Amino acid sequence: MQSPDFSKAGPGALPPAGSGAGPGACLEIDLTAIAENWRLLGRLHAGTVGAAVKANAYGLGADRVAPALFEAGCRHFFVAYVGEALALRPLLPGAMIAVLNGLIPGTESHYATHDLTPTLGSLAEIDAWREAGGGPAILHIDTGMHRLGLEEADVGALAAAPERLAGIGVRYLMTHLVASENPRDPINRAQAERFAAACARLPAAARSIANSSGIFLGTEFASDLARPGAALYGINPRPGRPNPMRQVVRLRARVLSSRNIAAGERVGYNGIWTAMRASRIATVGIGYADGFARVQPGSPAAIFDGRAVPLVGRVSMDLTTFDATDHPGIVPGAWLDMIGLGRSVDDVAEAAGTNGYEVLTRLGARFARNYR
Ligand SMILES: *Cc1c(COP(=O)(O)O)cnc(C)c1O
Repeated sequence: MQSPDFSKAGPGALPPAGSGAGPGACLEIDLTAIAENWRLLGRLHAGTVGAAVKANAYGLGADRVAPALFEAGCRHFFVAYVGEALALRPLLPGAMIAVLNGLIPGTESHYATHDLTPTLGSLAEIDAWREAGGGPAILHIDTGMHRLGLEEADVGALAAAPERLAGIGVRYLMTHLVASENPRDPINRAQAERFAAACARLPAAARSIANSSGIFLGTEFASDLARPGAALYGINPRPGRPNPMRQVVRLRARVLSSRNIAAGERVGYNGIWTAMRASRIATVGIGYADGFARVQPGSPAAIFDGRAVPLVGRVSMDLTTFDATDHPGIVPGAWLDMIGLGRSVDDVAEAAGTNGYEVLTRLGARFARNYR
């Protein structure tokens, strides 16, 4: 992984002005790194590369992330719901904004009015879109995920009655990979084959296959349009191998208080951690209400001055405690790196028993946010 290029200020420095004095934590989002990640994926993928910006751009702020990608040249955006698309429409003039989660009844009129592209995943949705007047759409084909998308029998029904697509401009035939982060999983190839077979039965159209990890699976998974999300935001698309993406997020939390406790004292709710020596405890302003996962005590959950600082006790709603005994620089007003320098989103995910996607999307709207 390339070294993160965040503020030149050393650990413990204050976040940039404008971040607000109140919050106990500060989220820095490197828009330049996001744009660079998008360009890197563009060099690796034979076809066009779009961007998944659903869930508020994986929690990082779609209103800033999507325009940064647009400025870098991205013209294809994917969100989950029409409300997310409506919010982005004025920011992305002329770009395709596709709604992944299907055509929810009652939302049809928004699509035509605001030039949004539905992703149709059932015969009922196809019929509803045609009856609403049709227009551009993506057809989603289920090749193994079994959540959304046309099943094999639906593809057969469409092939037998192509007039059901009358007035629908199929911009892409799309499928979504089940296990693209694991190149050894045979489902990848099976999905590519099922998708090719389904496409062969439908009217010719451009195709869209790969998510982030799919871009790294090889040319068989290249298509007219890739739909990466995670890798744009710095999550490793090749787990277990070096991360080719630039780190995007830096999350710092402020030390609010520090105290000395005697050996044998216990810290935090239910006293699940006991000091084995006289210890200095630093309390920082971040907790699970901020989306900081309740990692296990003893986990090296923060970095200060290049060194890991062990978390002690339970993560509580707005506060977390650290053993600062060996870190004399950790005093009230200092900042600990929770994600960023020396600690990637994937590291945090591993400590919390989840994946980088959940870590990012959980980071609440509560932080001061600084965009670079
Ligand atoms: C979320 C999503 C993506 C992006 O996946 P990443 O793994 O984040 O790159 C692509 N396609 C669909 C259908 C999705 O739901």
